[in-house]
Amino acid sequence: MKNPQESPFKKGRAIYPGSFDPITNGHVDIIERGLKVFEEIVVAVLENPKKAPLFSTKERVDMIREIFSRQARIRVRSFHGLLVEFARSEGIPVVIRGLRAISDFEYELQMALMNRNLAPDIETFFMMPNVRYSFLSSNLVREVALLGGAVDALVPGLVERKLRDKIAKIKRSKRIPIS
Ligand code: ADP
Repeated sequence: MKNPQESPFKKGRAIYPGSFDPITNGHVDIIERGLKVFEEIVVAVLENPKKAPLFSTKERVDMIREIFSRQARIRVRSFHGLLVEFARSEGIPVVIRGLRAISDFEYELQMALMNRNLAPDIETFFMMPNVRYSFLSSNLVREVALLGGAVDALVPGLVERKLRDKIAKIKRSKRIPIS
């Protein structure tokens, strides 16, 4: 390549949307890979009133901000409603999604094609994580942590501490007072 300025890499911005309840090492892996390709990534935390998340939207946003506090090329936002509307409101035409295994493929393909149908100007960009994260999901992390299993190899240290605090709080609130 003659001029490195012409590199197709590290150009433009992308959105990485998800529930991130909580963010895992698999998500972090995808974000770090994304930073090799894009100048800036907006991590977009979905506020879904139909799901009862373990962590509030603010807690999820704050955790991701803290994890990437020294990375100026990451912004963290929350959004609700249609992803393509959020992407348009931010003026960002690329959506990053992670593909762990074939099992993700069908759902992700449907979503990508539906989003293209709604907004032909927005492209979906798939990335594969390191194989060591291909079994990892937020759902599994929540379940293991709730049952008292170790999750320190699966999530950033900050998330592990917040999970422990959150679960202790839930257990305290469920304790029936002895009269
Ligand atoms: P959803 O609520 O749609 O499952 P998540 O918040 O779990 O979304 O994840 C957001 C995105 O990150 C999705 O594209 C999902 O496939 C991807 N993802 C989740 N876990 C991992 C992982 N361990 N490795 C790579 N990608 C992942």
